[in-house]
Amino acid sequence: MTNFRETSWAEFTNRAVPAYWLAEYKYCPSKAVLEMEVEEEKPQQLVKGQNIHEQEAREILESLGPLVNVPHPETVEATMSFSHQQLSRALRERVTLANAEGTIMFVCIVPDLGVWGIPDCADCTNGKHPVIIETKTTGRLPNKPWDDAQVQIGVYMLGLEVLGFDCKYGLLRYKLRQKPEAVRDFRVSLDHNLRQLVEQTAASARQVLDGAAGPAAADTPGKCASCKTSHPLLYRHCRQKLV
Ligand code: SF4
Repeated sequence: MTNFRETSWAEFTNRAVPAYWLAEYKYCPSKAVLEMEVEEEKPQQLVKGQNIHEQEAREILESLGPLVNVPHPETVEATMSFSHQQLSRALRERVTLANAEGTIMFVCIVPDLGVWGIPDCADCTNGKHPVIIETKTTGRLPNKPWDDAQVQIGVYMLGLEVLGFDCKYGLLRYKLRQKPEAVRDFRVSLDHNLRQLVEQTAASARQVLDGAAGPAAADTPGKCASCKTSHPLLYRHCRQKLV
């Protein structure tokens, strides 16, 4: 994006792809596009996961004491500058920053890829570099981090890099939905493979969003077997291919 720094924040976010959606696209392009086109009620398990995250974020924010007025920057440049200040201050004070509904403390933007996102939190307690911690609630703790979640945290880490922070890794934290104290953490490195994965996923999503290509089906039949999406529009994209 040319002159992205002067672009208004509203204009940028209107076109740029949010990290959470890019992760959904990685999981299944057809499903992600459908969910963008059709508003369906959120599944109970998703609502429960969001509530768990919101409560944790509020606790972190309360521990920071009275917050300075969180502004609403009008341009991409102002948003990046605000995020840089917040993270730098958190590093100086060795605290963790969190984002909650209506209280956005920092965002991560990768202008060249046209992607951005609001991470769950950044652990700045080492005083040197922020460590993004992204929490996923699940019915079963995985043995390795999911590809789609890696794409999401990859966007956040690249966004920190754009701000000038040294960002070598982040943490994907899985929590059992029914027992949130059961936790499994995975360290995710911002290595060549992850950079490529984010770039390729963003490029593919851009093509689909611009109408240059149709969305593909999920890459494994196992995803389709557990897919609960039943909207008739979906048949257009996927059923004839994998089911
Ligand atoms: S059935 Fe498969 S291809 Fe279709 S939306 Fe579900 S996961 Fe994606």
